[in-house]
Amino acid sequence: MKKRVGVLALQGAFREHRQVLEQLGCDVVEVRKTCDLDGIQGLIIPGGESTTIGKLLIVDEMGEKIKELGAKDMPIFGTCAGMILLSKTIVDSEQYSLGLMDTIVERNAFGRQVESFETDLQVPALGVNPLRAVFIRAPYLREVAPNVGILAEYNGKIVFARQGNLLASAFHPELTSDHRVHQYFINMIDEH
Ligand code: GLN
Repeated sequence: MKKRVGVLALQGAFREHRQVLEQLGCDVVEVRKTCDLDGIQGLIIPGGESTTIGKLLIVDEMGEKIKELGAKDMPIFGTCAGMILLSKTIVDSEQYSLGLMDTIVERNAFGRQVESFETDLQVPALGVNPLRAVFIRAPYLREVAPNVGILAEYNGKIVFARQGNLLASAFHPELTSDHRVHQYFINMIDEH
């Protein structure tokens, strides 16, 4: 049966995630209202502006509903701004966070001058071929609890991690043609 996967569509790069998920055979729901969360089996929180997305998550208590679903083990994948929103602690910021992952995240961690860059990452969980990764004003995980698995680092900084049903990447896997990261997330939904 086709999996029904939500993509939070309040702001940011949600269309690209939709396209990748559809190519991988999922039914995609663009989540704009709290009721759009009903019946989805997994959720992607895209890159964008985490402060803006956070403000919109307070409306209609959508963030609270997502927290509930995450606590009930529904797979959730946050990319870039989504990684920030999943983290329990955001360095030097009072902004809204879902706080589902036991991680400390730092925003714009690669310097403001370098707005974006691409690099090849080694991600053993995805096989031996390196993963091309696009970073755009990206965060990184400064610290993770022992229950968080580190999937990839770049220059010693954690940029891809998993905690049970929760997955977070500092980069944008929806912007490259290598779909192993999305497939990995779909496999998490299968396992669930
Ligand atoms: N710097 C952005 C933020 O803090 C994240 C950038 C992105 O999602 N590409 O929300």
